[in-house]
Amino acid sequence: MPHNLSRREFLRDMGLFGVGAGVASIAPVSLFGEDWLDKAGLASRPPWVREVDKPTVEIDWDFIYRFDERNTVRRGWNKYVSQEEVDRLGAQQRTIGNQYALEGRPGYSIRDLALYSASGVGATQSFLGPDAQTPEDRGVPRWEGSPEDNAAMVRAALRSFGASTVGFVELDENTEKLIYAIDPDGKKVEFQDVDQPDETEDTRVIPRKARWVIVWTVQMSSEGMTRCPTPLGAATTSLAYARNRAIQGRLQSFLKGIGYMALGEAETNALGIAPAFGVMAGLGELSRLNRLVTPEYGPMVRVFKLVTDLPLAPTKPINAGIMNFCKACKTCAEYCPSGSLSFDSEPSYETRGGWNRGGVKTWYENSPTCRAYWAEVGTNCGICFSVCPFSVKDKALIHKMVKGIVGVTPIFDGALASLSRTTYLGGDADKPQKDTEEWWELDYAELGIDTTVGHKDA
Ligand code: SF4
Ligand code: SF4
Repeated sequence: MPHNLSRREFLRDMGLFGVGAGVASIAPVSLFGEDWLDKAGLASRPPWVREVDKPTVEIDWDFIYRFDERNTVRRGWNKYVSQEEVDRLGAQQRTIGNQYALEGRPGYSIRDLALYSASGVGATQSFLGPDAQTPEDRGVPRWEGSPEDNAAMVRAALRSFGASTVGFVELDENTEKLIYAIDPDGKKVEFQDVDQPDETEDTRVIPRKARWVIVWTVQMSSEGMTRCPTPLGAATTSLAYARNRAIQGRLQSFLKGIGYMALGEAETNALGIAPAFGVMAGLGELSRLNRLVTPEYGPMVRVFKLVTDLPLAPTKPINAGIMNFCKACKTCAEYCPSGSLSFDSEPSYETRGGWNRGGVKTWYENSPTCRAYWAEVGTNCGICFSVCPFSVKDKALIHKMVKGIVGVTPIFDGALASLSRTTYLGGDADKPQKDTEEWWELDYAELGIDTTVGHKDA
């Protein structure tokens, strides 16, 4: 059984391809790995890890007492050496990295120092970003690299901050139109021929020399989302947005730390149209959801963006057969309880209301009826995301087939869509596809996501 594929999914795949369930039931445990017999809630451990009655470190409990934290060196260093020495060593620790950077010591370049500082940034969200120590502050030259090297560097930094996939869009007379004219809080977003970005009471200013948009996804848990439209399902959306607030702040700190501007979303969904930038950056394709569907995680992502003057090699849009597949699939439309998604086979330029800008040949959604359903269930729904064949756990055999085939030919699209529906969807159209109580017993991955996709060095 492939790693991360549950017993139920494995049996479904076996049944799907005519292999008797009996074979699966008598197969040795080793075939399925240790996870096969795991009790929910207990981490899987290799056989050489044994439970013992006493820890391997010897403890004399008679000598143990409740300690004053301020006696640790973290807090009470000056109890053990003079304050003067504490100050001297503290100042040295804060600045010696800059000296090493000037000396060219490996591992102390301006980008290494900036990444270290940025990694400590918590959840902040603003247009101009948090304060950061700039190369000027450090007395070190700013980072200079080719657009290709810069793109690789930003991708590495973003992955370490918690992003899933990363792409880059160059702003030109067309892509500039994907930046909002007015942000959610009513502030204008303007491109101006100025040297530095600015934010006033009514305007956010992007200098025209900031020509590059960094676009990234943050993965959501498919186990969580398949419990939509309940609060349990909606929790995974909230977590993705919350995680991104920290990711954005870290990216802003990093870019400022290497000497460049970093203009982010002032709040959720600010600055520009996320699916549009996702499409242009090649992170996925537009879909019947009128949202991004990615090859790696289906629609199980949120998409974010930031404008910078750091030159970046743009990434190109992709064709993975996703939009074509949507023409035959329609699963999301069939499962949408409010009938908000289009059943038309072909996409169209025809919009559904003022909430659609138009100009894109897609499947426009009825957002007011969708929102009304959110009010009915008290969450942000998300059923349409959870039933998409590209969302189902990536290791399931049928979905490897779907992804492999639809990118090459559309002739099996209808059959694959209905196979996926009958095989993997376990609930009525307006109900969670998986049991909410069962979620509490899962041996959940950290953050409920698969962080291993395509990243062998992590
Ligand atoms: S979020 Fe729910 S109501 Fe809105 S389009 Fe998706 S399935 Fe329909
Ligand atoms: S459920 Fe089907 S039609 Fe809807 S977005 Fe996913 S692939 Fe496209």
